[in-house]
Amino acid sequence: MKLSCEVIKDLLPLYYDQVCSEESGSLVEEHLVQCPQCTLELQKLELDLEEPSVSKGEVNAMKRISVAWKKDKWVSFTRGSMFVSALAAMICFISYHIIGAEVLPDGTLAEPFALLPIGYLFVLLFVFFLICNFVLLRKRKIGTK
Ligand SMILES: [Zn+2]
Repeated sequence: MKLSCEVIKDLLPLYYDQVCSEESGSLVEEHLVQCPQCTLELQKLELDLEEPSVSKGEVNAMKRISVAWKKDKWVSFTRGSMFVSALAAMICFISYHIIGAEVLPDGTLAEPFALLPIGYLFVLLFVFFLICNFVLLRKRKIGTK
């Protein structure tokens, strides 16, 4: 069966994407052997399609980068949270010392703005983020091995 170049040109994109039937594929191949013009068309198609579409290796690299970036995002998030918690705890304790606690005549401790419990809460948060950060970094080290 002899096919015209026009028909082959219509089939080439399908053949290139390997979505045409086996029969059409073998017809295209048959034609390509004896038609340099259509072979050129196929090469053009390859060049056209190769540039915008990324190879599998590139896709994998991009996936790895995005995963690493996501992990980095979490690491920087926990680091930032650690910093903010430590700062907040320090502010609480320092202002507690500046304002001072007052012991009321009936013996109860009057804490200004409940700074001590809030300060300890931030210390707790700091420890929590410290552990998160440590776990994330460990995970990343294992991931890059
Ligand atoms: Zn042809």
